[in-house]
Amino acid sequence: MNKQSGFLSIESKNIFSILKKWLYTEQDIVFRELISNASDAIEKLKALQEAGKIDGEYPTGEITITLDPEEKRIIISDNGIGMTEEEIDQYINQIAFSGAADFINQYSENQSNSIIGHFGVGFYSAFMLADHVAIETKSYQENMAAVRWDCNSDMSYQMTTGSRTSQGTDVILYLNDSNPYVEKAGSVYDIIKRYFMFLKTEIYFNAPDFKNVMVN
Ligand code: ADP
Repeated sequence: MNKQSGFLSIESKNIFSILKKWLYTEQDIVFRELISNASDAIEKLKALQEAGKIDGEYPTGEITITLDPEEKRIIISDNGIGMTEEEIDQYINQIAFSGAADFINQYSENQSNSIIGHFGVGFYSAFMLADHVAIETKSYQENMAAVRWDCNSDMSYQMTTGSRTSQGTDVILYLNDSNPYVEKAGSVYDIIKRYFMFLKTEIYFNAPDFKNVMVN
């Protein structure tokens, strides 16, 4: 694919700094949003199969969360429906910010600490934990190239050819030095367990003291 880059469209330039402020009060949101997206992606693939709309054989859906303190990364990985280049453009570059933009508008009108709970900031909550977020994804659709998307907190993004060889998505959070989770695998595990204990899709957690531990 041709390399593509640009700036995300949103009026407020403050979104990342505002999102970060919530990290210490609402730290579970990132995991809730990103794992829910991973689970939705797996459910969508399953629904297409059950409706007879696709023939291919796919492995059982699973989500893997990896905390790598050395590289300072958290990776949320699923083997769901994946995204094409056009879908990233449509769902991430253009749409995903609308929920976040609503949040910002409300935030400036209403300084209450509790309002974030009422908004699905969605995918962009990733920037509560990271200054740089990447997506590696490959669509279930045949002959669709894998795509990599990188976005920094100045809101500039780049799309290039990705490295995934099977359908699904990895969301990679490059954590900054002051990130509270870098050395706290136990709290990440606890959060995932608290919210997704009863999720049907299997979730695995990898970190220095957690070797592919099944969470739910
Ligand atoms: P929402 O989930 O409320 O639609 P998000 O901002 O979380 O909003 O995500 C925007 C869109 O990006 C999703 O609707 C979906 O189409 C796409 N998306 C996000 N994460 C994934 C993923 N892991 N796999 C496939 N598509 C995804």
